[in-house]
Amino acid sequence: MSINLDSWRRLPAAQQPDWPDHDELKKVVTELEGLPPLVFAGECDSLKEQLAAVARGEAFVLQGGDCAETFAGATADDVRNKLKTLLQMAIVLTYAGRVPVVKIGRMAGQFAKPRSKGTEVRDGLELPAYRGDMVNGLDFTPEARTPDPWRLLRAYHSSAVTLNLVRAFTKGGYADLRQVHAWNQDFVAESPAGKRYEQLAREIDQALAFMHACGADPAEFHTVEFYSSHEALILDYDQALTRIDSRTGLPYDVSAHMVWIGERTRQLDHAHVEFFARIRNPIGVKLGPTTTVDEALALVEKLNPDNEPGRLTFITRMGAAKIREHLPPLVEKITSSGAQVAWICDPMHGNTFEAPSGHKTRRLDDVLDEVAGFFEVHRALGTHPGGIHIEFTGDDVTECVGGAHAIVEDDLALRYETACDPRLNRSQSLDLAFRVAELYRS
Ligand code: PEP
Ligand code: MN
Repeated sequence: MSINLDSWRRLPAAQQPDWPDHDELKKVVTELEGLPPLVFAGECDSLKEQLAAVARGEAFVLQGGDCAETFAGATADDVRNKLKTLLQMAIVLTYAGRVPVVKIGRMAGQFAKPRSKGTEVRDGLELPAYRGDMVNGLDFTPEARTPDPWRLLRAYHSSAVTLNLVRAFTKGGYADLRQVHAWNQDFVAESPAGKRYEQLAREIDQALAFMHACGADPAEFHTVEFYSSHEALILDYDQALTRIDSRTGLPYDVSAHMVWIGERTRQLDHAHVEFFARIRNPIGVKLGPTTTVDEALALVEKLNPDNEPGRLTFITRMGAAKIREHLPPLVEKITSSGAQVAWICDPMHGNTFEAPSGHKTRRLDDVLDEVAGFFEVHRALGTHPGGIHIEFTGDDVTECVGGAHAIVEDDLALRYETACDPRLNRSQSLDLAFRVAELYRS
């Protein structure tokens, strides 16, 4: 059976770079096509099975990482700090939810960004907008901002480096459950917000001590399954890394375990949906507040016609002020149609605003409120709040306001390092995990 992976090319593709030289692009694509897969199709299938469990209400997803990874950020410290924070969050959620937590990084491939404006103007100078390190550079110069197809190759290699570190950290003892719990105890002891979570941390401690006393020491305590994901925005890249799986003869995008379609590229008759319909990875689609029930049903029909469990995840990003109104009809109608989807809450992208200083920011309280709304909606409908999707970093940046260290708008300039959207810092992320745990228990 031959599968036409080029069918998207005859359709409009939103948010693609204006490459200055298509011959160069072709050379890069040919090189990418000859490179080894970053992940295996069998691993994508394992993730699909775990997401099927999420759709059934038997597991919870924690998906997160930078808004935009950078090539400079593919360092041991950076990757380790993110992983550490994510694992710390995962323990808390596992304990509170009493279900496995599926850990997925916005890591090892999250290098391309959709933009609401194609250009940026500073001091009268207009240049192409930054579209992620996979496309152009962040510096505001004509050289940096000109799209360069050779960056696609660097994105591949940076992803490989990151994934290699992630695999080493998660399999090499660093992810040991007791170790991760000890880090959480440090957070509880040291952070002003942490005090509130002493009780929960103590319970986890007791559970671990009990299992230790019983002699229970399963392999799961020492290593972690971790999956990679990114928004598959630049279709030339993701297609070049799509391979036919020798076991099944089916195409998988082997640049990541899971890929998602963003809010700006989910048009039904456009290229991204067409490409995603062809690959067999588990996939996500972001749904913003303007999504209609008909659109969501049509996405299910197009992207998961066989209703394969775990194949399709809807990542809703409504905004705290809208989720309680906009989410219920979607969940209700999709559920009554019989479609099996996992529902994940992205409480970041509907809650962005510009501070007086000009920094793009988000309030931790809004993020928490959207997650609370997400739980309320699903509980009222008897459906499963399947997980959260966040932008965070393991460092002490000052990009979102609020949280234990009471970052206020005037503090944003202190350590505002993101290449794109504002991320929760380490302590805000842990705060969020403990709050979600409280929602679970309430
Ligand atoms: C993102 O995830 O960084 C993003 C751009 O999200 P959305 O497509 O939901 O706007
Ligand atoms: Mn973002």
